[in-house]
Amino acid sequence: MILTVTMNPAIDTAYQLDKLIVDDVNRVVPKKTAGGKGLNVSRVLCQLGDDVVATGLLGGHMGAYMGSLMDADGINHDFTPIAGETRICLNILHEGNQTELLESGPEISAEELAAFSAKFAELVAKADCVTISGSLPKGVPADFYAGMVAEAAKHNVPVLLDTSGASLDAALEAEVKPTLVKPNLTEINALLGTSYTPEQVADLAAALKADERFAGIPWVVVSMGAAGSFAFHGDKIYRAVTPPIPAVNATGSGDSTIAGFAHAIAAGADDVTVLKTANTCGKLNAMDPQTGHLVIERWDEVYNAVEVTEL
Ligand code: ADP
Repeated sequence: MILTVTMNPAIDTAYQLDKLIVDDVNRVVPKKTAGGKGLNVSRVLCQLGDDVVATGLLGGHMGAYMGSLMDADGINHDFTPIAGETRICLNILHEGNQTELLESGPEISAEELAAFSAKFAELVAKADCVTISGSLPKGVPADFYAGMVAEAAKHNVPVLLDTSGASLDAALEAEVKPTLVKPNLTEINALLGTSYTPEQVADLAAALKADERFAGIPWVVVSMGAAGSFAFHGDKIYRAVTPPIPAVNATGSGDSTIAGFAHAIAAGADDVTVLKTANTCGKLNAMDPQTGHLVIERWDEVYNAVEVTEL
């Protein structure tokens, strides 16, 4: 079973408009999805045929509705109930633009967090792999993910951590390391205080190698959108490229990449298969208008076109 964690899920509501008229009425038809990065990971894992359990925190009427959206997507879920209402995030697609209104989400109490930790300890003991995605809600300390990584390590369960900012910093500095981190180019530049481009992969790889914070993490992956990715696995450095495509909707490509890594790592695949699977998922998501959804019928074609080379 692959366990996905979403601590601050959202009901993603998309409105498609020819033109957004400010300061007047806009009539819309909503499209609602169980959202949050970990839910994108879950949806893709379902498409890949994996046995998935989604966990995290859910609250109020919105939380109950979120549960029904996950049921409709066929995602097994086991969330800890909280008092606050699960958030709603609005995405207005208009005139080629994407205007987003994102609620910050509820504040979590110490009791709710303790209840979640107990549930996580129970679920992780049964998992083959864990993915942890996205930001932490208010009231949760920045080192909370680091604690989850340590709990998973007690059971030798690999943890793929896709977060940024203070919670990533805390996980990088902790004694027990995650199995994989996957910052994108913007996130890694922010972390290093640099401005590398995909053309400067060799320099970026050298900077990462020299950075003690990444020592001891088995897989360090930097995803670079249409330019593919590169990855350290132990002593090896790999570059993965795929023929770039004009993205239909690249939102969720990073989450789909994480799903690909989880799928292949849980199956015990070799490095090249792991990287081909992850990059195929990222690209197939960019080809699909739905966020966190693959054009699965083009799997073979896209998989065979991904090139992985050892640098
Ligand atoms: P994030 O969503 O975290 O910013 P990226 O944008 O780096 O992630 O995308 C993750 C992966 O998805 C890339 O490494 C690549 O394999 C694939 N991908 C994303 N956009 C494209 C694209 N336009 N063409 C081909 N592959 C893409």
